[in-house]
Amino acid sequence: MNLGEHTLSALRVQLRAVDCQTCGRPFLRWQRPALAVYTDGEYADASLHHVGCHRPGWHEGWIEPVLDRQHLSWRAGTFVLPARLMLGLSSDDIPFFLVNPAFEAALLHHRDGRGWQVWTVQFFKELGLDLRGSTALSSAGPTPTLAASIEDHRISVTVRSGEAHHHWPNIPIFPETARLVRARGSIVVGVTTRLDVCQRLSHPEIAAGATSGSMAVGVAALAPKGKGRRRRKH
Ligand SMILES: [Zn+2]
Repeated sequence: MNLGEHTLSALRVQLRAVDCQTCGRPFLRWQRPALAVYTDGEYADASLHHVGCHRPGWHEGWIEPVLDRQHLSWRAGTFVLPARLMLGLSSDDIPFFLVNPAFEAALLHHRDGRGWQVWTVQFFKELGLDLRGSTALSSAGPTPTLAASIEDHRISVTVRSGEAHHHWPNIPIFPETARLVRARGSIVVGVTTRLDVCQRLSHPEIAAGATSGSMAVGVAALAPKGKGRRRRKH
């Protein structure tokens, strides 16, 4: 069994060798990572490792600690999408939390006739987000599995559904963006593996990504102040 060239090239675009998923230490600049794939029925998990830390190739069964994600890198940023880019969808500026949830690992799903497909963003659809971004952007109602909290010019977003739990804490947010979130009582959350959250992105790039089906989009209700995690000590 193998992934096929189409899926391998999608993984090459999506996966970024930041930290080894076995030992957690960074990859050296020109170090070629080992790609390990664990399968369980129609689902699989592909991840990057130091060649000396993990055998590359296909492995049957989910094996800890590869899947506990303790070494997984992610990046997130916040900004405001101007209303003029959202014509027909919203008459308001939209506060946005954009996250790339998995640099060194990807979920795969096998479908008859189509083989293995990269499935990381689609997984968030299973958690209640929407791949038709326009629906989430025009929807007034929050996504039940999403929650956000703001503290000290930083925002944290959580996705929780059944056993699945993703937490992206302490992302800087400008005061004017935070004001907009408080006024709406929510922030739009976009999950992408295509846009590089660390790079400067144009608003049209983000708006196009949100409505292209390659981004899972939801609305996180803002938790009342004081609710949620404890205040950090200074
Ligand atoms: Zn390693």
